[in-house]
Amino acid sequence: MARYTGPVCRLCRREKTKLFLKGTRCESPKCPIEKGRPPPGEHGRGRVRESEYLLQLREKQKAKRFYGILEKQFRGYYTEAARSKGITGEELLRICETRLDNVVYRSGFAMNRAMARQLVSHGHFQVNGRKVNIPSFRVSPGDVVTVRSRSQKIGRIIENTSYAEGREIPDWLGSNLKQMAVEVRALPERTQMDVPVQEQLIVEYYSK
Ligand code: SF4
Repeated sequence: MARYTGPVCRLCRREKTKLFLKGTRCESPKCPIEKGRPPPGEHGRGRVRESEYLLQLREKQKAKRFYGILEKQFRGYYTEAARSKGITGEELLRICETRLDNVVYRSGFAMNRAMARQLVSHGHFQVNGRKVNIPSFRVSPGDVVTVRSRSQKIGRIIENTSYAEGREIPDWLGSNLKQMAVEVRALPERTQMDVPVQEQLIVEYYSK
């Protein structure tokens, strides 16, 4: 399946919630969700019978779209989470949160996860002093993510960090925007993962 390249606000409208896929617009009154725009399509305004399956499917789609992950990889994350000792739904979200592209976004180096993914794959970041250009790379507690010295003057990264100064950065990340570095302090707890999904429904979807 190819990556979605259409209008991203449409995805939020489909999920009837803000997925923060753009940047400054997501915080502004121009956001279509703030304006109360209905889901896309012919039946967007109509009443759809919300079966149990539909609720589970929508939660799964919402999480995938929120993190920008395609089905095959997301299912692989579910399988890994189900094998782990922790609560499957929480583990699934923790795996998504510790991806390098998500850490770059959460730390304030990118306006959204798509931009973070692009910056990582263009080789602008290092983990513990080594260049990593794989967006799905997973960080661990104690890792230090930095912007490579040759990339620190890139206007887009500087702009993003100055915008992010007013943004809340989760406690599990020690972000130092001035030094363009972030330390992974710990793995995130569920309360520290600001994700608008009910992960239990995703587990029910995949465990059928
Ligand atoms: Fe568009 Fe952002 Fe609003 Fe989603 S949250 S509808 S991406 S402006």
